[in-house]
Amino acid sequence: MKKISIIGASGSIGTQTLDVIRKDSGLSLIGVSVHSNMSKLKEIIMEFHPTAVAITSEKHYEEAKELLNELEFQGEVSFGIEGLIHIATLHEVDTVVTSLVGMVGLKPTVEAIKAGKNIALANKETLVAAGEIVMALADKYHVSILPVDSEHSAIFQSLQGSRHEEVEKIILTASGGPFRGRDKAYLKTVTKEMALKHPNWVMGAKITVDSSTMMNKGLEVIEARWLFDVGYDNIEVYVHPESIIHSMVQYRDNSIIAQLGAPDMRLPIQYALNYPHRALAVANELDLLKIGNLSFQKPDTDTFRLLDLAYTAGRRGGLQTAVMNSANEEAVELFLHDRIRYYRISEVVEETMDQFRNLGEITLDKVLETDIQVRDYVRRKFKEV
Ligand code: NDP
Ligand code: MG
Repeated sequence: MKKISIIGASGSIGTQTLDVIRKDSGLSLIGVSVHSNMSKLKEIIMEFHPTAVAITSEKHYEEAKELLNELEFQGEVSFGIEGLIHIATLHEVDTVVTSLVGMVGLKPTVEAIKAGKNIALANKETLVAAGEIVMALADKYHVSILPVDSEHSAIFQSLQGSRHEEVEKIILTASGGPFRGRDKAYLKTVTKEMALKHPNWVMGAKITVDSSTMMNKGLEVIEARWLFDVGYDNIEVYVHPESIIHSMVQYRDNSIIAQLGAPDMRLPIQYALNYPHRALAVANELDLLKIGNLSFQKPDTDTFRLLDLAYTAGRRGGLQTAVMNSANEEAVELFLHDRIRYYRISEVVEETMDQFRNLGEITLDKVLETDIQVRDYVRRKFKEV
């Protein structure tokens, strides 16, 4: 029986992870964190009986205490960032699923690694901000970072049985998001409602906006760079609107190996939780005959600037990807609160990256410090309405 903790259990990936655990008898849920969603916490406790829970939104502590009293919850209860770390380092847990959104995932992930836990990583922001540090720690503590992001799971699956020096390049596929084929003038008309509708996936608000700007693909390029130790010149992005091929690896003999599946996150989640084995299907079957055709296009990086900016940040190295990530998190937050217009997101990220150049060597403390400084800068400089 594999014992699992989920940090960010109440979100889109968290809920789908719960469904995998529900249907896979080899997995058992030990610890969870939620931020603000008390009804989800109640459902989780009643169905899965975890032995430890954490609540991270201070505004919800009282409500949580009342709920736990009402449920006569006998397990451990903790709060805030300390609570997250507690859930991520529980003694009996084998694998921690990091399905919370944003940079806040970095500290608990680092602590989980130090406690010898394998990580099923959905929280890509962690690797974008501090990939070099996190991968070195994983190496040092002999733990596996198992990708949950569908593209990285596809690459990981396509890499099985190969040697690193045989890999020529990685081809990340992208749906292109809801504004694929549109131009810059169109992006000026985009509203929150338009940005929050993704054609192929139902996800949390932040990643849905990131997918529409193609920042998500930029974050994934950086995530791939660290997960698979490949240079930016060897990572390409193809727009593939059907979202059936989840990504590919091209080898030195020009063979390309791809992983295909229905667009259903439960498949990569289940693979990460059962690796190196494959369990019985939880995700839906793929009907290729019904799909008929698959297509590929070059991304329009002139309109979707953030994809190019991610390569720029990655190549600059050091703290630039952390700066880019924090600027984007804050810009998306401002957009979701109607404080900036949609098309300004990429401008905010670009201007902030230029403002925070040459910050010296990357350390964990510096990443955390930079995050605070960048967010503060973005909030003060760009809050427009
Ligand atoms: P959601 O917004 O649906 O869920 C986010 C989760 O994080 C919730 O459990 C939420 O708690 C919690 N959370 C929010 N803010 C905080 C905070 N400040 N401190 C601690 N916990 C917090 O996001 P998704 O599930 O869509 O995405 C999660 C991660 O997975 C992201 O990094 C995303 O990029 C990645 N990912 C998602 C995919 C998807 O299909 N959704 C695909 C690939 C990667 P609560 O709801 O209780 O407030
Ligand atoms: Mg993805």
